Amino acid sequence: MSGWIEVIAGSMYSGKTEELIKRVRRSEFAKLKTQVFKPKLDNRYHETKVASHDQNQIQAIPLEHITDVWDFLNHDTQVIGFDEGQFFTFELVQVCRDLAARGLRVIVAGLDMDWKGQPFEPIPTLMAIAEDVSKPRAICTTCGNLASYTQKLRGSGSQIEIGSQDNYEARCRLHFKPQIEDQVISQVPLNPVLLR
Ligand SMILES: [Zn+2]
Repeated sequence: MSGWIEVIAGSMYSGKTEELIKRVRRSEFAKLKTQVFKPKLDNRYHETKVASHDQNQIQAIPLEHITDVWDFLNHDTQVIGFDEGQFFTFELVQVCRDLAARGLRVIVAGLDMDWKGQPFEPIPTLMAIAEDVSKPRAICTTCGNLASYTQKLRGSGSQIEIGSQDNYEARCRLHFKPQIEDQVISQVPLNPVLLR
């Protein structure tokens, strides 16, 4: 059987992780062997689980580096999920190609744009090579319309910052501003900041 790549891309609060969990669960109902991985830096919730903001959880193996997946991959895995794909390096693209070539169904969830509204690799490249792309949308916290952007409210100017929920909001195109909204550096100690 031929494998393929699916991408679930969108802003924060668009339900990407929920959708990933749903697809993996449905595969499990069909008795398919599944594995889910996430980048190790994302330890906002439980260390070995993928959790959506509504606390819907499944087991996930945290990876220091994307190529470590080959050490953890079970020989009988048929469906493989990656959450927070934007936090892996660009090598995620080749790993997904290799997994699909082995016949696996590969599902990647991740942010397609950063808080400046710029494409956030490797998700845009994965969207181009994937057989199937979904862009679920969040709700704009300003007007209630559908939202595709992640507005940063406070924190540092780095592209990658694992922040608490209150550092970000979903916004529509009209209400999104590609800058930190209040320009006040939070006095609260931030979670680990990674630059690349
Ligand atoms: Zn709006």
